[in-house]
Amino acid sequence: MNAYPSYLGISDKDWSNKEDAARRLISDCRCCPRYCHADREGGKKGMCRAGSKPVIASADAHFGEEPPISGYKGSGTIFFTYCPMKCVYCQNYPFSQLGHGKEKGIEELASLMIYLQEKGCHNINLVTPTHFVPQILFAVRKAMDMGLKIPLVYNTSSYDSIESLSLMEGVVDIYLADLRYADPEKSEKYSGARDYPQASMAAVKEMYRQTGPLELDKEGIASRGLLIRHLVLPNRIAGTKDVFKFIAGDLSKKVPVSLMSQYFPAYLAPDHTGLNRRITRQEYDEALGWLDESGLAEGWRQDI
Ligand code: SF4
Repeated sequence: MNAYPSYLGISDKDWSNKEDAARRLISDCRCCPRYCHADREGGKKGMCRAGSKPVIASADAHFGEEPPISGYKGSGTIFFTYCPMKCVYCQNYPFSQLGHGKEKGIEELASLMIYLQEKGCHNINLVTPTHFVPQILFAVRKAMDMGLKIPLVYNTSSYDSIESLSLMEGVVDIYLADLRYADPEKSEKYSGARDYPQASMAAVKEMYRQTGPLELDKEGIASRGLLIRHLVLPNRIAGTKDVFKFIAGDLSKKVPVSLMSQYFPAYLAPDHTGLNRRITRQEYDEALGWLDESGLAEGWRQDI
């Protein structure tokens, strides 16, 4: 029988190889598709402003994720500070863009994982982990020695490099991945990342290759696989129809989609005419119609 969570089945040799690769990655950073090559191990900061140590905004049990992630005991979220994306509407901007948070050592990050496990959480939910993949890897290995035995959720914008995701193979069991845009001009204008559509689509293909579609245990809690989140934006800015077309046509119809309606104009969005309001019921219903037409697996819908 395979080990579960998967990280318990990684051999010492494979851990060492992963850690060596993680050190190389952070010394010439290629964690995200910006490939800014910062020597973060040597004390430099990357374009995302992340350095050598993880910076953490908060860690606690969270009950607001999709039901298979939060379950009935909560998801053990660790919110990382900074982000390689620059979304003008980011709801988490105090820590993603303004840098609020505390620098921690690898041992402290490992201890936070154990703290969340001891709270009874179903999983460790790594929120905005992209720029701290090497540090997460080091911390998971330490946390295993401290008794970590709940699965990891990699909760990402999907602006991840394939090289970085490959380090997470066999470490992460559950991918909770955004697909935000289908159009490079929109992703450039509103998130400062023209290559986001192609980079995120390649990233979710890699996640799917590693874990397949979402699987639930007998209590309905996520045990493995990929779940995609899509936030409907006003004025069709998110390219919702094309995002569904990609998932259904190029990824798999088995991947469930969580269709999110909670957009509100946070951070700099009030200054952007296309984004300075919530979505309407018609816009959400239109997105639901496209989701139904696409033939994708049953996912999660929200009230509006
Ligand atoms: S994660 Fe940060 S440091 Fe690394 S390549 Fe991306 S922007 Fe640069």
